Amino acid sequence: MNLAQFPRRGYVKEATPIEAVPAFSKALGGKVNIFIKRDDLLPGCAGGNKTRKLDFCIADALDKGADTIITCGAVQSNHCRLTLSWAVKEGLDCHLVLEERVKGTYSPEASGNNFLFQLMGVKSITVVPGGSDMMGEMEKLAATLAGQGKKPYIVPGGASNTIGATGYVSCAQETLEQLFAMGLNIDHMVVPSGSAGTHAGVVTGMVGCNSGIPVSGINVSRTKDVQEEIVHKLAEETAERVGVKGGIPREAVECFDSYVGPGYSLPTESMVEAVKLLASTEGILLDPVYSGKAMAGLVDLVRKGHFAEGSNVLFLHTGGSPALYAYLDTFRG
Ligand SMILES: *Cc1c(COP(=O)(O)O)cnc(C)c1O
Repeated sequence: MNLAQFPRRGYVKEATPIEAVPAFSKALGGKVNIFIKRDDLLPGCAGGNKTRKLDFCIADALDKGADTIITCGAVQSNHCRLTLSWAVKEGLDCHLVLEERVKGTYSPEASGNNFLFQLMGVKSITVVPGGSDMMGEMEKLAATLAGQGKKPYIVPGGASNTIGATGYVSCAQETLEQLFAMGLNIDHMVVPSGSAGTHAGVVTGMVGCNSGIPVSGINVSRTKDVQEEIVHKLAEETAERVGVKGGIPREAVECFDSYVGPGYSLPTESMVEAVKLLASTEGILLDPVYSGKAMAGLVDLVRKGHFAEGSNVLFLHTGGSPALYAYLDTFRG
């Protein structure tokens, strides 16, 4: 893979750390050694995985002459926060379309990411009901803005197209180089699986580099079968873009859906436990919607003996901690 052929803005200046979390591993019985890839520490307002994808997506927007970015997400979207953050940095206007997936949950006074939308000067927020055609809504807004003389560019939800997923192909390469330099042999990688660009990109990179490291996705909304098809399709398309010969074997995409709970963004006991445990043993903050549920999955898999004794497991920390402040009652209760 020669990723240097794709335009990017250079938002990711250096590799994010890979850290051992021995106290956390010990709290889970000490039979598995857990390591964390700290993508929560990526640049961009309050960090997180969308920066790697936007590095490529915003470059494409600028190549196409855009002066305005439109994107969409849930009411506490980290993706919207980071897209706005990079748009601000580039001097581009940014408009958000927010999907109220849980009825009555949008409030302009809310804390967390929503507060940061206001602080960074979002140009407009359009709130639409759960289940809306988000691309259709963004296209409507783009037409209106174009009518006002603007040049809008739409970044799809989660920046999960092949352009954005290329950021996580790069993350897989970066991770393998780091592990080599550290002399650390990882047996298994665990990643959150949402709009799928992260999971698909990591799988494409790990297969493309012939790493032999299996990757498991922990779902945050969809069922296993549905999510695996979405991830595999995007991984195949991304593999074609970046030149991975032979495509992506279907077995390389594995998802677990037991940790979603009642639905996307709705708290679960195991998420609360995982967030509290990592914070209190290692001082690392997860989030309630993605990394907290993904870590709840890893915790359960470790306890169930899913990983062989003595194995080294790498968790991809995708960020999201600003959302914690919109869930205070969940953690205090
Ligand atoms: C968006 C997001 C994810 C999921 O990544 P996808 O590429 O959408 O699957 C995970 N964690 C955080 C904090 C996110 O914001």
